[in-house]
Amino acid sequence: MNRRADVIITRLRLDHNGLGAKNFANKNETPICRACRDEDEPETLMHFIYHCPALDTQRKVLSDTILRLNVTDSIYTLLFPPQDKENEVYNALLQYIKDTDYWSKI
Ligand SMILES: [Zn+2]
Repeated sequence: MNRRADVIITRLRLDHNGLGAKNFANKNETPICRACRDEDEPETLMHFIYHCPALDTQRKVLSDTILRLNVTDSIYTLLFPPQDKENEVYNALLQYIKDTDYWSKI
């Protein structure tokens, strides 16, 4: 992983990242999701990864990859993958972050 990828994974694991709901790295002035802009949807990690309706297309690619890797589709698995599939899971997650245009926002 390159340096930026490493930082992103670490921030997600610590739940200290640029998503809107909290934290130090927050460049998002409001807690509202920047993808769907639903005023009732805080930009949490779970919303970003699993629920944001604006990211359904990109999420399909991620969930297809997770399914193919035969690991449990959970936030825990994405952030703490089994060791033998760590690279593949992280690559899929990082690809999702690129595809959703959140690479510089995390
Ligand atoms: Zn959203």
